[in-house]
Amino acid sequence: MATLNDLPLRPDLVGKTPYGAPQDTVAVRLNVNENTHPIPEEVAVDIVSSLARAVTGVNRYPDREFVELRESLAAYLGHGLTADNLWAANGSNEVLQQILQAFGGPGRSLLSFVSTYSMYPLLANGTGTEWIPVPRDAGFELCEETALAAVREHSPTITIVCTPNNPTGTTVSLDVIRALYDATEGLLVVDEAYAEFAGGDYTSAVSLLPGRERLLVSRTMSKAFAFAGVRLGYLAADPAAVDALRLVRLPYHLSALTQAAGIAALRHAPRMLATVGDIRAERRRIAERLAELGYTVYPSESNFVLFGGVTSPQATFQALRERGILIRDVGIPNHLRVSAGTHAETSVFLDAIAALPR
Ligand SMILES: *Cc1c(COP(=O)(O)O)cnc(C)c1O
Repeated sequence: MATLNDLPLRPDLVGKTPYGAPQDTVAVRLNVNENTHPIPEEVAVDIVSSLARAVTGVNRYPDREFVELRESLAAYLGHGLTADNLWAANGSNEVLQQILQAFGGPGRSLLSFVSTYSMYPLLANGTGTEWIPVPRDAGFELCEETALAAVREHSPTITIVCTPNNPTGTTVSLDVIRALYDATEGLLVVDEAYAEFAGGDYTSAVSLLPGRERLLVSRTMSKAFAFAGVRLGYLAADPAAVDALRLVRLPYHLSALTQAAGIAALRHAPRMLATVGDIRAERRRIAERLAELGYTVYPSESNFVLFGGVTSPQATFQALRERGILIRDVGIPNHLRVSAGTHAETSVFLDAIAALPR
């Protein structure tokens, strides 16, 4: 049996571990922030008929510019965007990777505010970009002072702000995003994977795009849209930024089937998003119950809750796993993260954790 040591691996990849959230087939899977509700039957039927039509043409390469999908995404986002402002790839992870391929690389840097999405350092590493982790404020918030001091100190090529932030659920205000943009000469990427779950005061950074050609807003169909298995993430930005991504994307990177599925799902956007209200209610129920049980809960505008005060995250994670419930150890000492599932799934989790020692 050969090992990695027997291969001429890039030195900067030696000793690294791949992304690897467990994929157990247990009954209650609340570990990767999926929308756990299946997509509506009538939408599924319409998607299948679109796929059937697309299949008859797969002897040809797909539309390399996926114009119809970009038009659908622009219409969905609103804010006066057109297809020229939109880009998409196989998950927003691929969009982020393309951003790093085009704008990062050796001698360049990516700054993000930790704790945040675990893929940022992996994507930086894979593209030879230096990763600069800057700690958040108390309670995983991010105030203007902290944000601006970080970009002034490090002058990063790229800054990524995740809001609502994974794994904390906390948001970053539009004022801070505007100020960050003005303070950096580099690119500012706002990762809004969970935007549809945010309520009340939350406004998408898409509203800031006009006149800000260094601002890129990343979104995905994997979370609220219940489309994780299709792999479709997208970006809204100035058309010049989209041109940059064309330089690094692989030819025909979005398959004809992906394009057809995405266009069909976007025709039913309100139906696809119909479960968001229920998921928010479950998120609130989790936060209230965990607080009652004595855990520290952070205000979340996403579809998950981060909670602290866990004596041994490994022991709690393992005890739940043995009961057929998967949640996430995100590597923050004494903390765990759980996604809001259906009412039934959430109840199974809450009953199980209530019976465990804190
Ligand atoms: C889930 C998630 C994504 C989305 O990944 P896809 O590749 O679109 O499935 C992006 N950013 C964050 C912060 C996430 O949590």
